Amino acid sequence: MSLNAFLNALSPELSAALRPLVRTTQIPVLGPVLGGPTDQLAGAPWLPAGTEHPACACCGKPLALFLQLRTDPILAAFPGLEAGLLVQLFYCIDGDGPCEVEAETWEAFNTSTVGRIVPITEGGGSGQARLPGQSIVGWQPAHELPDPEELPSPLREDLDGDTWMALGEFCHDGDKLGGWPAWVQGPELPSCRKCGSKMLFLFQVDSNCGVDHMFGDVGTAHLSYCEKHPEELGFGWACG
Ligand SMILES: [Zn+2]
Ligand SMILES: [Zn+2]
Repeated sequence: MSLNAFLNALSPELSAALRPLVRTTQIPVLGPVLGGPTDQLAGAPWLPAGTEHPACACCGKPLALFLQLRTDPILAAFPGLEAGLLVQLFYCIDGDGPCEVEAETWEAFNTSTVGRIVPITEGGGSGQARLPGQSIVGWQPAHELPDPEELPSPLREDLDGDTWMALGEFCHDGDKLGGWPAWVQGPELPSCRKCGSKMLFLFQVDSNCGVDHMFGDVGTAHLSYCEKHPEELGFGWACG
């Protein structure tokens, strides 16, 4: 069923309440690695001249690139981001657990995860590929509704069980850019460490999708940023 057909089948009141909440998410279309400062899942990061491949502060090993994303194509959809930059997300995949537990990598800010924004400059080189990479060669837009847990009151409390379950089908699992996060245990976008503002959802990394990694027991992870301090990137996950 399309989202529009689903909304049309609801009561006029519920449909009217949900329609303004519809957002567009972008699902990555993947292809072979292009290299350079391009949009990419896993593989080798592009490193601006003079920039190091980051290491895990917990075990010291090189972190794995999970996501690399140019800001230029997404500026209109993500307020606060600046042009000409590259968002990079690195995560520790070593030790089969110790860093995950010691650094509590499910928390949005931890010592085994590095989220950073680097300038796209002339030159530069390539870091280590800790996981097989794929380039994001396009985006497939899809409309979605918030995870029912994220609906405002009293809308959330008034939903019957069937509608609750059906709503969940319209918040996409898998990797995606923007839209509504699909929560495993309920909404948990972090607050900015600098200003306390609630951070904005940027990208969802799901277990065993474009990045060959499983978060806990098939968990789902979310990258977020602060509109006022976009260099503050949070990355946390939850599993059932
Ligand atoms: Zn580590
Ligand atoms: Zn902030």
